[in-house]
Amino acid sequence: MMVDRPCALVTGASRGIGRACALELSREGFKVAVNFNKDEAGALETVELILKEGGEARMYRADVSSHEEAKGLVTLTEEELGPVDVLVANAGITRDALLVRMTEEEWDGVVSTNLKGVYNVTKWAVKSMMRRRKGRVIAISSVVALTGNAGQANYCAAKAGIIGFVRALAREVARYGITANVVAPGFISTDMTKKLPEQARERLSGAIPLGRIGTPEDVAYAVRFLASDRAAYITGQVLPVDGGMSLGALT
Ligand code: NAP
Repeated sequence: MMVDRPCALVTGASRGIGRACALELSREGFKVAVNFNKDEAGALETVELILKEGGEARMYRADVSSHEEAKGLVTLTEEELGPVDVLVANAGITRDALLVRMTEEEWDGVVSTNLKGVYNVTKWAVKSMMRRRKGRVIAISSVVALTGNAGQANYCAAKAGIIGFVRALAREVARYGITANVVAPGFISTDMTKKLPEQARERLSGAIPLGRIGTPEDVAYAVRFLASDRAAYITGQVLPVDGGMSLGALT
């Protein structure tokens, strides 16, 4: 007999933090819509990992920076898997450069994927959450939204924008029983951070009080908690998962 599980949609779940969130949410009892943009093989691997553990998952290609594609993603997920109970807005990219060298494409690319992408998907997912008077939105920002980081003005602006967006949303949807929170990861070992120059990796690792780089699972455990019934009374909050990185240096 098919179990009627609630549904979680995770954007950018073809690898890294998104894949770890998809797996943890499956373990929490959700069927999972695995979104990807380009990495079809990665998305398939995420789905297979979930199926292997006895979970339910389907993959959906959509570029979250496109309003139409994001709408299509939510519509198709709802048709095939059922209404979205939990949205994890995780898809993100970096295009690092010092501001004076940052091109308009680098600015627009990061802001449209990392910030507009969150608006695009959340807008459509929240509509049906409001009708059903339940739901969770969890957006993945970054600790650099709080601290700033040289070479990432576009990324820091987009990630800080997510925090303002979620705080406004939390107020708008609270009366429908929907919560909205932000998880702000620190330095996590994924493809995104693999491309950092060795010097930057060393500088960043040295700034982590807990003395190690984070794993995608470290982030996914926090997301799983925020998606669970136990987090029902938490909304509009920013949870850093960063080994203490955002505590700042002692002077
Ligand atoms: P990653 O390994 O590079 O994975 C990024 C994911 O986002 C991939 O699944 C990618 O899918 C997807 N994606 C990118 N553009 C997309 C688009 N336009 N539409 C749909 N999906 C898209 O990165 P990660 O480290 O796991 O990062 C995940 C999130 O955590 C990002 O928002 C990132 O900013 C944030 N974060 C990461 C760190 C860190 O240290 N790694 C720290 C703080 C915050 P395709 O390849 O299929 O396009």
